[in-house]
Amino acid sequence: MIPIEIEKKLPELANIERVIDSLGDQAHVEILETIRYKDLEFPIHAIVLGTQDPEAPSVGYYGGVHGLERIGSKVVIAYLETISQLLTWDDTLHDRLKETRMVFVPLLNPVGTFLKRRANGNGVDLMRNAPILAKGVPLFPMGGHRLSPKLPWFRGYLKNEIELESKALLNAFQKFHAQSQQSITIDVHSGFGAIDRLWFPYAKTVEPFPEYPEMYSLKTLFDRSYANHFYRIEPQARQYTTHGDLWDYIYDSYFEKKNEVGNYFLPLTLEMGSWMWIKKNPRQIFNVLGPFNPILPHRRQRILRRHITLFDFVHRAVHSPESWLKMSFEHKKALEQEALEYWYGR
Ligand SMILES: [Zn+2]
Repeated sequence: MIPIEIEKKLPELANIERVIDSLGDQAHVEILETIRYKDLEFPIHAIVLGTQDPEAPSVGYYGGVHGLERIGSKVVIAYLETISQLLTWDDTLHDRLKETRMVFVPLLNPVGTFLKRRANGNGVDLMRNAPILAKGVPLFPMGGHRLSPKLPWFRGYLKNEIELESKALLNAFQKFHAQSQQSITIDVHSGFGAIDRLWFPYAKTVEPFPEYPEMYSLKTLFDRSYANHFYRIEPQARQYTTHGDLWDYIYDSYFEKKNEVGNYFLPLTLEMGSWMWIKKNPRQIFNVLGPFNPILPHRRQRILRRHITLFDFVHRAVHSPESWLKMSFEHKKALEQEALEYWYGR
């Protein structure tokens, strides 16, 4: 049972528990961490569907890292609800899940969402919290700083360990993705720009990350499969660089340990372009959640269904790697060259 004072301000938690109930024993559910705030306790759930074979291909849908961007959580929960309904009749989905795993962590920062603020309960911006420094000098204070939790984009004090929510994310990666032959995660955010962007690493540097040819191959597959899609797919650092990005950190630690088997991991961030919602409804800028969320019901509904194609695509892609990951040497060389030109201007 969720205490009433939490339920009122954080209906997302009740939604998550409702889907978990309806999934029954089809889902493997874990509480990654329990976050305490005053005398309240907030669980961070991971809902896992499909095979438990650690090497099986996996996809992950993550939301609610920044408490103000609660539409991200809602988008992930809505997709989980869709999947739970599909599981009642869709044999092709069951077939896919025999060989793959779907992971949902819809609310990584429950206290921040409860308090309607970007940071967690300690005032730390989780996407600046990893022990990793940007190359060059990111914009201040947006790129992350260690001055004070009273300023936004606070990374946490150097002497402190990383936050429990950050640990939960690292933990989820280790448990559900680290050994997968191929894995794609999508972390859903909002609040930047007027178009929907699909970002891949790095946030710390404009230099290419190791798997950019595979990323380009995935992009090419998406472009030709869904020719009218609306995403701009680009390295995050093309827009701005930051210290402490958790996905950069996870990627680098994973890559250092990556065995010779040749596994692949693409951590994506979906940055939903909220400025177009404000343009259509300028008054919402006066609401604390306004700059980050669609406020009008019909627009919210549109956003909740807008990304289903993308979410489904990444699952199909990890299930069918022949089409984009298993490349001949010549083909990979050609793609590398195209990607360097397209994304890095070389
Ligand atoms: Zn965000």
